[in-house]
Amino acid sequence: MKQKLIMIATVALFFSCSSGEKKAMNEQDDFNYSVEKFADLEILRYQAPGFEELTLKQKELIYYLSQAALEGRDILFDQNCRYNLAIRRTLEAIFENYSGDKTSSDYKEFEIYLKRVWFSNGIHHHYGEEKFLPGFSETFFAETVKVIDPSELPLKEGETVEHLITELTPVMFDPSLLAKKVVQDPHVDAIYTSANNYYEEGITQKEVEDFYNKMKDPKDTKPVSYGLNSRLVKENGQLTEKVWKVGGLYSPALERIVGWLEKAATVAENDNQKRSIELLIEYYKTGDLKKFDEYCINWVQDIDSEIDFVNGFTESYGDPLGMKASWESIVNFKNPEATKRTIIISDNAQWFEEHSSVADQFRKKVVKGVSAKVITNAIMGGDCYPATPIGINLPNANWIRKEYGSKSVTIENITDAYDKAARGNGFNEEFVWSDVERQSLKDYAFITGNLHTDLHECLGHGSGQLLPGVDPDALGIYGSTIEETRADLFGLYFIADKKLVDLGLLNNPEAYKSEYYKFMMNGLMTQLVRIEPGKSIEESHMRNRALIARWVLEKGQSEQVVELAQKDGKTYVSINDYNKLRELFGDLLAEIQRVKSEGDFNTAKDLVEKYAVKVDPALHTEILGRYKKLNLSPYKGFVNPVYEPVKDATGRITDVKVSYNEGYAGQMMRYSKEYSSLPSYN
Ligand code: ZN
Repeated sequence: MKQKLIMIATVALFFSCSSGEKKAMNEQDDFNYSVEKFADLEILRYQAPGFEELTLKQKELIYYLSQAALEGRDILFDQNCRYNLAIRRTLEAIFENYSGDKTSSDYKEFEIYLKRVWFSNGIHHHYGEEKFLPGFSETFFAETVKVIDPSELPLKEGETVEHLITELTPVMFDPSLLAKKVVQDPHVDAIYTSANNYYEEGITQKEVEDFYNKMKDPKDTKPVSYGLNSRLVKENGQLTEKVWKVGGLYSPALERIVGWLEKAATVAENDNQKRSIELLIEYYKTGDLKKFDEYCINWVQDIDSEIDFVNGFTESYGDPLGMKASWESIVNFKNPEATKRTIIISDNAQWFEEHSSVADQFRKKVVKGVSAKVITNAIMGGDCYPATPIGINLPNANWIRKEYGSKSVTIENITDAYDKAARGNGFNEEFVWSDVERQSLKDYAFITGNLHTDLHECLGHGSGQLLPGVDPDALGIYGSTIEETRADLFGLYFIADKKLVDLGLLNNPEAYKSEYYKFMMNGLMTQLVRIEPGKSIEESHMRNRALIARWVLEKGQSEQVVELAQKDGKTYVSINDYNKLRELFGDLLAEIQRVKSEGDFNTAKDLVEKYAVKVDPALHTEILGRYKKLNLSPYKGFVNPVYEPVKDATGRITDVKVSYNEGYAGQMMRYSKEYSSLPSYN
């Protein structure tokens, strides 16, 4: 599970505590974090402080793993929609060959559209899931494609340029065709209507559910992650899985990934890590989900390595039924100074589990192996790029988490980059109720934000247990939202606990107020800047924040715990009773854990539909108007650093150099040339 950024924009930061004080030797003060802005996006860059201090062998390992991380990019494009690769390649051909007027509005709109396609790994918004439309005309598209040398275009066997244009035009321009990547509306068939490529066109939700229910054995205490690594298709009227593996679907990309992993295995830090890499290779070669579990179990127990990575079909947010996983990768190394913080948290995991507000039968009796660390991200690929998570907790299989624990990370060079890029942007002046809250945010938002992520990932997702016999997929299309709600509430409940001060994680018992304020302001108001007028909330993390914030607003209404207050004709969040607010978070945590533990689909549905989806149009219009004046981008993403091996005359790597100078379009075009092995249609 991954935690996306909670803050839309954050506060100017003055380090009051935490690891931020200690700068690594090669971190530059004058680093330019912002790369460019377009549409609703801002591209940032991040540093990897500490990379240069790693040993040659560790640098070499990161280099091989980073290559493996970049080779899966095409897979994600194809998973997101079956036309994505053909569209990306056609647009890139225009980008490279266009000789017309580059100051024309059509061409400018074309550039914006291509940059958005790169950002979203396809034609659907990376967060809102809806298709975004080109701002240039269909005629411009047809005319520019027609003059390109056909050898530069992604033509199918025997296909004409005319046909390519005819096929792609409605896919790009018709708002009703493939309108949404992930449909989570209970009133329609979520599989039939979703535009993703996990299920062949025409297959219904009922067919999918029947197919997988037949495979599941309720008595199996160690079920594999059914459906995780395949596309479901119909052949001769029969449903069958096309498995993503070497020799199967996506083979060309997976072969390259395996090639880099084989090199990585030769420079592994220790035998345990080497074994993890080898198991991952075996899994990619066989597609065997039991092998995947074996890999996960080995990987979660590798806690001594300094370098770590995720590479594979991992998160299932892109599948309405939460089974099929998008491909992603992240390569990282430990930030030892900041990790002291998460070690304290994980060492006390049992205390937190025992003192949460959930009913006894839903708690884990013994919390196993929660390992948590703060990491420096070296490279992101697939579904972690360019929009990145700020925290990750894996593996996802419930029984492995219960028996072997989970690994949890907070990605601090990313949160740091967000923070620095947002300094003095005017956001808090516009939306925060008073100077009291602004001062609290200034002093504590960075540390409490990171701590909330630590608690969310390290303890929240790992906490609680399912009652015996409860299907982990019982909450269906509401599963992801409920799971994120649970993890966020766990973090919110404990960030206000005196225990954090006793443990030395916070130096002020009032510090949590900054996180409470930020969370409520975001959940009730400011996250709406990410939603287009007239649309509802779709993305799981946004739904979870709305659910929590609106639920406590309603439950605390009679005592005015939290209010939406007016000042000078503008709406603000005002928190009147922080203690009571914490109690309400605790009450909701208890209920959400019950829903999860019992697999109570109906309550999950009621909670999500009542609190998490709908948008108040008047408030929405107001917030959008105020936000627009600030000229900020509601979504951010990152370009990666570039890693360049230095070789001696024999071809042996003698050093790996890192640089941060690559631009956005330059990086995307380079990736499309160097790491693109799949055919346009798979
Ligand atoms: Zn999460």
